[in-house]
Amino acid sequence: MTATKPTGRRRLGLLRGRNGSDRDVMKSEEEWRTQLTPEQFRVLRRHGTERPFSGPHVQPDGSGVYRCVACGAGLFRAETKFESGTGWPSFSAGVADGVETRRDYSLGVPRTEVLCRRCGGHLGHVFNDGPAPGGKRYCINACALGDGREVQDPDPRGE
Ligand SMILES: [Zn+2]
Repeated sequence: MTATKPTGRRRLGLLRGRNGSDRDVMKSEEEWRTQLTPEQFRVLRRHGTERPFSGPHVQPDGSGVYRCVACGAGLFRAETKFESGTGWPSFSAGVADGVETRRDYSLGVPRTEVLCRRCGGHLGHVFNDGPAPGGKRYCINACALGDGREVQDPDPRGE
């Protein structure tokens, strides 16, 4: 399991005119609570997990980019989506500059948590039982992806 490398995020942030903070999008708990639905807040800011089959993005469909509901960052391309049978949206890859991973020991067994790189929101976990060739399965909470993807915008960073 490899941690995502810091690939010039700060420099890009400056070029995009963002502040120099660790996250490009930083808000208080109250701001997030106001912006997000209770379920989205529980998942994204409290590292929760939605019930399987509760979200709208389970079936693979079309093309485009799924975005973070909290900050709008491009996270997953529809082309990498596959049906895992788990009841959660599943992807074989994340957008390179969109997601990051870290080790998560909250259940006592090591897992790899998937986070939105821009706002730090919890998205789900990545497992090594995905389809070839990469073998990755990004198991993502549908509510973190909002109400759908943007098909028109080919730039996953949304700039
Ligand atoms: Zn985000």
